[in-house]
Amino acid sequence: MSPNLTVQQILSWTLQLSAQPDYQALTHEFLNILAGIPWIDNAAAYEIYNHERKISGESGTSRELLIRRFPLDFTRNDEENHTPLLAKLDHTTDLNLSAKDESDLYAWAVYSVKGSGGPERAIHLEGAFDWEMLDLLGNLRGIYRNLVILHDAKERDVLTKLPNRQSLDIRLLQVCEYYNDYQVIDVTEEKSSWIAILDIDHFKRVNDNFGHLYGDEVLLIFSQLMEKCFRYNDFLFRFGGEEFVVILNLVNQEAAIAVFNRFREEVANYNFPTVGRVTVSIGLTHVDGVSMPTTQLDHADKALYYAKDNGRNRVVLYEDISVLDQDNDPSEIELF
Ligand code: GH3
Ligand code: MG
Ligand code: MG
Repeated sequence: MSPNLTVQQILSWTLQLSAQPDYQALTHEFLNILAGIPWIDNAAAYEIYNHERKISGESGTSRELLIRRFPLDFTRNDEENHTPLLAKLDHTTDLNLSAKDESDLYAWAVYSVKGSGGPERAIHLEGAFDWEMLDLLGNLRGIYRNLVILHDAKERDVLTKLPNRQSLDIRLLQVCEYYNDYQVIDVTEEKSSWIAILDIDHFKRVNDNFGHLYGDEVLLIFSQLMEKCFRYNDFLFRFGGEEFVVILNLVNQEAAIAVFNRFREEVANYNFPTVGRVTVSIGLTHVDGVSMPTTQLDHADKALYYAKDNGRNRVVLYEDISVLDQDNDPSEIELF
């Protein structure tokens, strides 16, 4: 068997890939291209995060891989079992292969995509591959990888590696558009999304007292605590400076407030090296399916400023303060 591809075909793929405006579009296009290759039966892309997590029953923390299949569907809660993929991954090589069958063909191949300012990625292919095909796929992976590196440099923050403000704008628009079609009015409904701005309290003092480098270290650890506390189907961003954004998916109002409070406490109890204690204020709002993304962010920001004005180290829901605005009775706000 031979790959049997023309120069035109390969140039056309390269053009298609390099024309994509962002990582999401690039990966969609790459999977489309792979799915159109006759000797590939199945193509899937994954993001692999190396997390430090507490395993229940154990006193220490241990490293655990978190795998997200691309694209992440924030409207579904059924985390896939990626154990079969994990079993195929040997992180010391760029290509993991099945055993050869009797015709000397491989039934699956996992190409890893490393070296960018984001998580490691893996491309999992099923079909029937000989070495010539694997070589060609390896080169395609190389083009994809180079483009991922460029996109990560543009779409992720260098210090924390979290998606940046630009990525937030794109993602928030997607989430708001989804709820335009499927409005959730009842906030006790589990299928709700929430947008929160998280702002570290008195962060200027950290820089002033300990220096910018220690300030940076706090930001890095803070982002790691976020990755540890929120779920695989929540979206995390560095908004800028000492401000972060979370789009929390598939929880009702009570659970959303509880999740943010748990994170707030996790930060307050964490002993940051040299700096010691740091707290965070959080403003959140319900993604209502009516408001524009900028309005939603503005609402979360108003709630955040309410938290700042009322003692910091607290979580405030915009919907509570907006009701109070109408009632003209600011003394009755419930702070969580
Ligand atoms: P508040 O509790 O009201 O939020 O007070 P604050 O001091 O956290 O807020 P303020 O906006 O006055 O100061 C934010 C500081 O964050 C000022 C700025 O120097 C610092 N900062 C912004 N980006 C970075 C960064 O990337 N690294 C470091 N080390 N500091 C940063
Ligand atoms: Mg700030
Ligand atoms: Mg601050």
